[in-house]
Amino acid sequence: MLDISITRTGNPSAKPGADKALRFGRIFTDHMFLLDYTQGEGWHGARIVPFGNLSLSPAAMVFHYAQEMFEGLKAYRAPDGRTLLFRPDMNARRMGTTCARLCIPEVPQEDFLQAVNTLVHLEKDWVPSQEGSSLYIRPYIIATEGVLGVAPSKTYLFVIILSPSGSYYEGGLTPVGIWIEDDYVRAAPGGMGYLKAGGNYACSLVGQVKAHGAGYAQALWLDAVHRRFIEEVGAMNIFFKIAGRVVTPDLSCGSILAGVTRDSVLTLCRDWGIQTEERPIAIDELLECWGRGEVEEVFGTGTAAVISPVGRLCYKDTVHTVGDGGIGPLSRRLYDELTGIQYGRLADRHGWTREVQGTVNLGVPI
Ligand SMILES: *Cc1c(COP(=O)(O)O)cnc(C)c1O
Repeated sequence: MLDISITRTGNPSAKPGADKALRFGRIFTDHMFLLDYTQGEGWHGARIVPFGNLSLSPAAMVFHYAQEMFEGLKAYRAPDGRTLLFRPDMNARRMGTTCARLCIPEVPQEDFLQAVNTLVHLEKDWVPSQEGSSLYIRPYIIATEGVLGVAPSKTYLFVIILSPSGSYYEGGLTPVGIWIEDDYVRAAPGGMGYLKAGGNYACSLVGQVKAHGAGYAQALWLDAVHRRFIEEVGAMNIFFKIAGRVVTPDLSCGSILAGVTRDSVLTLCRDWGIQTEERPIAIDELLECWGRGEVEEVFGTGTAAVISPVGRLCYKDTVHTVGDGGIGPLSRRLYDELTGIQYGRLADRHGWTREVQGTVNLGVPI
């Protein structure tokens, strides 16, 4: 259990009014959580302090060798005023997986959960209550040792910042167009595609820029070896409904991130008696199914958008339209069910939500 010291800001910011259209990740709450790591001493110095700039050596390893990882989850305002987290234990576990691959010392899962809980509880008045809005939680770890030699850093900083964010869909759930990228790749087997690491994003920006340039919202990534098997769409997992079955790429290739939303969607589909398949999906197989009129729905999944319906895909200059280009009934049902559970409006049969209850050391509620 962490001993978290709290220094409150003397200069609190005004919270965004209910009339303000919150966008994503642009404003931050008054406080942040910090935890230091020093080789030999381990993680120490847990503290919540006023939100502010960090001071780092310009030689800090994160700037040169990208030894960095992050997580992303949200706190939701329930109609009865409670603040809920959605499956934060999965983020804690995934953080451990990421750290192990990047030679970053692991933060104990219970310390991660305590830190998230304590900070969100302190900032609970920042959890917005407008429809579809939430408090985005961004934990991350950076290598801070100021040495240019290539080696795992001997010092790290674990940070959590919070950002009140608006609904991903300002104008309601709308289908997007996807550009299938067959030149650049995002991740290769044995690499770090299955991690939430900044480096994965740096190398995928070019796909996003290309997609935008061609008039599409996101790039869909194919596998690095064959340029044939479908992996992910932007920073989301991808699902297809083909001839009544729900199909998504399996994770064994090591280049696909194990999304919390992905796992939740698979669980809900199984609950509803829909046949699910986790397996490699080749682009040529997909196009054959398309030709037979079997592709009923396509959607991306992730914490930010929850469900992002895809209305059309462009592959090698040919545009394929999904159904009538509108939102499929399964996409709609999954979106309504998941957001219903996250916001505490619907029964939580799997025990996925966790109420934020700040605890000072020794579990005393504050
Ligand atoms: C975060 C992320 C996802 C979605 O994961 P969730 O846990 O559902 O938010 C999918 N793909 C990539 C590459 C990601 O970084």
